[in-house]
Amino acid sequence: MNVKIDPWSSTNIVDYSKLFEEFGIMPFDDLYPRIDNPHRLMRRKVIFGHRSYEYVLDAMQNKEPFAVMSGFMPSGHIHLGHKMVMEEIIWHQQKGADAFVGIADREAHSVRGISWEKCRDTGINEYIVSLIALGFEPHGHIYFQSSSDNVKDLSFELGSKANFSELSAIYGFTGETSVSHMVSAITQSADILHPQLEDHGGPKPTVIPVGADQDPHMRLTRGLAHKMNMFKIEGRENKDGQHYFSIRSKAAPQGALEELHDTIPGNTKLFEGHLDVLGADNFEELLRTVRDVELRYGGYAFVPPASTYHRFMSGLQGGKMSSSIPESHIALLDDPREGAKKVKRAKTGGRISLEEQKKLGGEPDKCSVYDLLLFHLLEDDQELLQIHEACVTGQRTCGSCKNLAAERMEKFLKEHQEKRELARERLDEYCL
Ligand code: SF4
Repeated sequence: MNVKIDPWSSTNIVDYSKLFEEFGIMPFDDLYPRIDNPHRLMRRKVIFGHRSYEYVLDAMQNKEPFAVMSGFMPSGHIHLGHKMVMEEIIWHQQKGADAFVGIADREAHSVRGISWEKCRDTGINEYIVSLIALGFEPHGHIYFQSSSDNVKDLSFELGSKANFSELSAIYGFTGETSVSHMVSAITQSADILHPQLEDHGGPKPTVIPVGADQDPHMRLTRGLAHKMNMFKIEGRENKDGQHYFSIRSKAAPQGALEELHDTIPGNTKLFEGHLDVLGADNFEELLRTVRDVELRYGGYAFVPPASTYHRFMSGLQGGKMSSSIPESHIALLDDPREGAKKVKRAKTGGRISLEEQKKLGGEPDKCSVYDLLLFHLLEDDQELLQIHEACVTGQRTCGSCKNLAAERMEKFLKEHQEKRELARERLDEYCL
């Protein structure tokens, strides 16, 4: 009998984890105990990895400023995959984050050739209305890339720190790629970093909830954040085995280093182009001092952005979910009864006969209906646990899961679409 101990486990997660170990992504499990009232996607290990999320958690717990940011390309229809990211943004907003949602119209225009007018229409009517209906509050920021001077100016600056080889390694650019396509790629880095500009309160931990495939982009942006900062801080050890920090800059005026020398308490030694700090026991405080001086001297000071990584739901017909194949996903604007029918036609992890199902149990890890329940349709962990157990021990039939998921899906879509009508009336509360 195929009994799994961990109801949230997935072969996908194991694969992703192996892949990410190579790139230094940390398991989310390690931070999980520190999270107060974790989101459903955290509890169920859909969010399985992170980079630097501990700084976001520190800020959250110490009631210090932090931000959450993500973007949506206004092409195609909003579906459950987008909903998942929106829920992560809203959860962080409820936990005190300054929340940013960018509509990537520059990307849609340059990469997909979608007109500006259509970008705006899709951005508002598909994505923003649903975002508000799901609970995004007006004190957050929703913007179009093409309308944000901050983002456009910053993308130009970032462009001076990135080169064609780096971008082509990540995005597969070739000699045929248009320049505006390249600009739109760097604009995504500006999206991620702009919550830390002075207009939005300056440097702060910022989390970007992304799919597991987006890590190269995060690595690029974290690298750009380091390159943009006026000072580089490195931990070192001298010949007596003492730890110290070396603060270096090629471009900073000597006045900035002198000011740092005067401001940082304790034992500092000033040299041409760098400053050594011995015995700094509070790195965070040191970092804050350095950032203050960077900003005073007109430089940039970015905290490298944090990220959380989620796995993807399987497509309803098996394989990957694709926005261009309506049968593989459920769009938030699908007719509720049609949505329920799609669930009933979905591929399950059931065996070929009832007899075999009873004998071997089902395979929820390979079941798109179970994924629907796990990702979206069942809030109660105990109920999900019972379904998992009944499945793997052969006590449950796929028909009962399909009926439950179809009924929940129809109800969700109906209610969400009603909430969208109310959200549409509130659009004026959001600066667009
Ligand atoms: Fe999936 Fe339910 Fe069938 Fe198990 S019983 S394979 S969870 S539909």
